[in-house]
Amino acid sequence: MRSLLGHPVNAKERLLGKIVLNSPWLFCNRNSVIVTSSPNRKSLRHMAILTDLNDIEDYLKSGDNIIYYGVSNIKELNAGDIVRLTPEGKIDVLYEIESQHNVLFVTEQCNCSCLMCPQYTTRNKTDYTEEVLALIRTYPKTSIFGLI
Ligand code: SF4
Repeated sequence: MRSLLGHPVNAKERLLGKIVLNSPWLFCNRNSVIVTSSPNRKSLRHMAILTDLNDIEDYLKSGDNIIYYGVSNIKELNAGDIVRLTPEGKIDVLYEIESQHNVLFVTEQCNCSCLMCPQYTTRNKTDYTEEVLALIRTYPKTSIFGLI
């Protein structure tokens, strides 16, 4: 899974969103995440803003606006990608629109204890149910993906 890093502002919880590139506010909705090198007041109509700028104007930081600035490798994002934004500043790309190899990671909880399991020592009990269901609702209707 590809991950990018940025400086988060007002990011209080993990959020899922769909990437919008160079788009006017017409394409904004409650899940849209705009990627822009020139964030402005119209950008605030999206759920969150990602920018490669190393700093942003104070008015953008005010209120509840969710912004990640100084995002590394931002050009790797494509319109339609689905990302997970974390309060720590990590941007995980959970679905890549241009990839034929998307996988939905459902659970790490396995009790088979196979000798050669690459995750044998992992005892992570994190429950991904809500996130997986939210992801399925966000996926394009024609998307193809694997399950593990
Ligand atoms: S390889 Fe690992 S994850 Fe797969 S069935 Fe065995 S223990 Fe479970």
